[in-house]
Amino acid sequence: MGAPQPGKATPLACRQPGQENTIVSVGDVRFGDNKVVLIGGPCSVEDHDQMINTASYVAAAGGSMLRGGAWKPRTNPYDFQGLGPEGLELLAEARRVSGLPVVTEVLDPRDVELVAESADMLQIGSRSVQNFPLLREVGASGKPVLLKRGMMTTVNEWLSSAEYVLASGGADLVFCERGIRTFETALRNTLDIGSVAVLKDTTHLPVIVDPSHASGDVRYVAALARAAVAAGADGLLVETHYSPGQARSDAAQSLDPAQFAGLAESCRAVALAVGRDL
Ligand code: PEP
Ligand code: MN
Repeated sequence: MGAPQPGKATPLACRQPGQENTIVSVGDVRFGDNKVVLIGGPCSVEDHDQMINTASYVAAAGGSMLRGGAWKPRTNPYDFQGLGPEGLELLAEARRVSGLPVVTEVLDPRDVELVAESADMLQIGSRSVQNFPLLREVGASGKPVLLKRGMMTTVNEWLSSAEYVLASGGADLVFCERGIRTFETALRNTLDIGSVAVLKDTTHLPVIVDPSHASGDVRYVAALARAAVAAGADGLLVETHYSPGQARSDAAQSLDPAQFAGLAESCRAVALAVGRDL
């Protein structure tokens, strides 16, 4: 209970007295700098044209990184599980064409080496936040890591998960708040904006927000994104699909290209209002 104790159980993740913010670089993208980093892309990597097309409209809207799942952690084992290695190739191809660095989830410790060879940043999903062997493996890979908050983890537990990555040799870690489970069911999850404020104070590492999994509903994604930027988030991870009705996962929360551009524009206005840019 209570605010994290800097430097006690999590000395690498927490800010030491006087320690400046750490900037995490992924290619030319800098998390924790003045510019709020917008990452866009589909929930699942589906095919070549989808990824090339998405990379192009994400960049045009001001996005500086591409997301997309090659392995999907689905609740039901019969749901689409992702394209696996083929998805990694499609992400790499989209990066070649667009120049945007890519972030993708790694689910299995046995896949870390393969994913690290082609992705620029490794995402640890909510359901894996306490998969300690996986955290050690991604830390040892030396790649930048995007660590989602678990839907049932406290801020202190989340910090401990980050500590696993950092203690295993990883230096570049970005936290991603994506909503937690509460009694509220109006949205898919409850976005904990307070965790952004706490982490920006407690840690030296960047913190971004995923308003897509937090809301689960396309109608509310942009509002949560604006709240995140106003609260001091260093970036946004947003799901978008060129044709949301055809998305193979998370269609209900996927913005179409125009909605994605609208989100970017309104979040840029908030960023400027709080002395940042997007
Ligand atoms: C995702 O970003 O595609 C994802 C599965 O998110 P989460 O782990 O937050 O549910
Ligand atoms: Mn998703």
